Amino acid sequence: MTSRDGFQWTPETGLAQGVPSIGVISPPTKISTSSATYDVIVVGGGYAGLTATRDLTIAGLRVLLVEARDRIGGRSWSSNIGDYPFEMGGTWVHWGQPHVWREISRYNMRTELEESFDFSRGVNHFQLRTTQSTSIMSHEEEDNILAAGLERFVNVDGAMGRKIIPFPHDAFHVPEARRYDEMSAQDRVSEIASSLTPNERASLESFILLCSCGTLETTSFLELLHWWALCGYSYRGCMASLISYKFKGGQSTFAIKFFIEALATGKLSYVFNSPVSSISDRGDKVTLTTRDGHQYTGARLVSTIPLNVLNSVSFDPPLGTQRATATNIGHVNQCVKVHAEISSKDMRSWTGVSYPFNKLMYGIGDGTTPSGNTHIVCFGGFNNHIHPEEDINETKKAVESMAPGNMDVKRLVFHNWSKDEFSKGAWFFSPPRLLSTSLDAMRARHGNIVFASSDWAIGWRGFIDGAIEEGTRAAMTVKGELQPAPVPRSYL
Ligand code: FAD
Repeated sequence: MTSRDGFQWTPETGLAQGVPSIGVISPPTKISTSSATYDVIVVGGGYAGLTATRDLTIAGLRVLLVEARDRIGGRSWSSNIGDYPFEMGGTWVHWGQPHVWREISRYNMRTELEESFDFSRGVNHFQLRTTQSTSIMSHEEEDNILAAGLERFVNVDGAMGRKIIPFPHDAFHVPEARRYDEMSAQDRVSEIASSLTPNERASLESFILLCSCGTLETTSFLELLHWWALCGYSYRGCMASLISYKFKGGQSTFAIKFFIEALATGKLSYVFNSPVSSISDRGDKVTLTTRDGHQYTGARLVSTIPLNVLNSVSFDPPLGTQRATATNIGHVNQCVKVHAEISSKDMRSWTGVSYPFNKLMYGIGDGTTPSGNTHIVCFGGFNNHIHPEEDINETKKAVESMAPGNMDVKRLVFHNWSKDEFSKGAWFFSPPRLLSTSLDAMRARHGNIVFASSDWAIGWRGFIDGAIEEGTRAAMTVKGELQPAPVPRSYL
């Protein structure tokens, strides 16, 4: 099936919108009667919504899943073009991510992972292009340069951040942590700039921007410390957790397992292609209205609508001031992720940074396609932002400029997350002060509406793991209210 989402370009076909994905659900509607009252309505079929839907249907509750798109997965989905999975959004997972790993074990997918990097072949080097120079170095030198900059960056306490965030799943455990949420990444880079070589600085800044895809000024230093803590306070941990292990068949092979399990309970109704326009909570029931005028009611509603688009839905009674303010501020991630299939087989072992002049700044060899081409994945951010489909020649040039002479582009594949009306951005990354002022408000319920999203998870916030954490939390909350646990009795 082909989704409306995503774009691909080849010299032969030109630019085309819509790419195939096993995450597209057909038929798009399965509903007994539109006037039924459900136990729970879940809005959004990303990992938070899929987890909540599955857990609630397994508990025997009647659930209606309402999704704006034609597919499941939200910000994590893969397109299988020519039998090769291009990851359009969320990709990498790790066994150190507790919620995601629980699900990988549940679906027996432990052996379905593969490594992105393969440093055994061809052009086996790192290419660092800055405004001043181009350096070619080994991957070991690449590690040393980035580790040196990163360790200086995070070492605010002489303990590599361990004293500031001793519990990664409780980032504000130490009150002083709030001080670092006042700071931007730029503030911290300025503090250590005199101790960095030009290559260390370019490498560090491009890595920070790869994490936040904002600008150095709009990136919360505390959130970077939080990522560092989650990754075990080490450079190696960051590489392993953030960018190394992915599903051989693509993210949609994982997401579909949640959906199929929910469906098998017989308790699931769903409507895709149905953007929600308003949600009203009258105390005894919640009524949802879609843009095309359909109304559905439930005893509870789980909203997984992302932070950056929450203000596109009207709530009655209106959302509280602090949540509304947080929604209007939003997160800062405007990642531009572009896949390129290139003819050079040797580039499989290449990695590169082109910063700050290029429209894409970070690239790695990520696989070999069935036709024998190398798959390169490139990232850009808001610091040098493009809408890839608006000028495909500029996008192609940005890929070519990552490694001039070595990028003979045969295909481009991407999803424009910035223009996507159901996300308006990529993974959550906080600007300074948003977390310390608004995290609790973003997580709070609103009458019979429970909010669940990776955007306000506690642990791996902004990751697939965080979405599953939140879907689990929402399901537990709702289940606890609609199905109070039986009082344990002793027969002794
Ligand atoms: P979403 O997936 O956004 O789900 C919300 C759902 O709500 C969507 O399906 C949306 O269509 C729907 N919706 C929105 N508005 C409405 C409406 N009005 N009516 C009905 N439905 C609506 N994470 C990792 O762990 N590893 C990675 O490598 C990684 N890389 C990433 C790369 C990119 C480019 C992107 C975009 C994300 C990446 N992430 C990664 C982050 C991860 O994808 C997200 O954190 C996670 O998928 C979010 O899940 P969610 O369910 O909270 O939100």
